[in-house]
Amino acid sequence: MILFNEIKGWYCENQGYQHYLDNHLQIDGWEIEDLGESSTSSMHVYGLHRDLDTKKPIIYLQSGIHGNEFPPVFFSRRFAEWISRPEKAPGDTKHLFEYLKNKYAFYWIPIANPYGYEHQTRDNEFMNINVDFQDETQKETLIIKKLNERIKPVISIDCHNWERDNSTPCHKMAIYQDGYRNKFFHREISNNALKSLSLISNENVMEYPFNDHGGRHFHVWSGAQKGINGQYVVSWLIETSRMRTPEVQTREGINAMLVFCLQSDVWLFKSIQNPTLIDIM
Ligand SMILES: [Zn+2]
Repeated sequence: MILFNEIKGWYCENQGYQHYLDNHLQIDGWEIEDLGESSTSSMHVYGLHRDLDTKKPIIYLQSGIHGNEFPPVFFSRRFAEWISRPEKAPGDTKHLFEYLKNKYAFYWIPIANPYGYEHQTRDNEFMNINVDFQDETQKETLIIKKLNERIKPVISIDCHNWERDNSTPCHKMAIYQDGYRNKFFHREISNNALKSLSLISNENVMEYPFNDHGGRHFHVWSGAQKGINGQYVVSWLIETSRMRTPEVQTREGINAMLVFCLQSDVWLFKSIQNPTLIDIM
């Protein structure tokens, strides 16, 4: 079994939304798209993408839907940098980033909630937009839904952090199957992914405990959509621990993004029903 070393390297700051746009939005190898006004009309939502004009299946990444969760914005950014420039990734992971770069197109919304990022609040100016996916009252929600309808990703990863535990990152997967409106349908994949992550990061990784998230939440809504392959989106939720330093959250977050991409890849395209770490490496 080949294990890659845990990923190190971090960067995290918040000097306001405009500062992010001016200093961090642009990434080598990615194109910027203005997705339009947020619910606070003076602020627009931006996306970054690469290889959208190819036939490659798309992985959708999202961070900053809760404006006060800064480390996910920056660990996602580091992940994005290594996707377009795998040679900059840690030595034993270069080939994995190279593999994902060649096989997939990517779309990433770094800050889905500009107002919250600017004001360091969970909500946008009006509400928690993460629970607006049935009601569609907020422009941010509509932007995300329209984008997903347009690009039809096959894998989706939503990056968060939370304050409930000081030692355990947690994660969750949602996926559906025709006739089964049950987000736990392919539970074995989720369990094996968490096991893989635990082995790689040498952490006690647990499943996100709240089972009551319905289609109002992005992560569950996303799992009920269909990708360009005609299958339901394999939708992952990452919650790093807010009680830990940004450096630790970066390690937790990038490892999780990498494992979830590879785990989904093996399941979707190599027809291994319950992939373990050996299968994905
Ligand atoms: Zn969150």
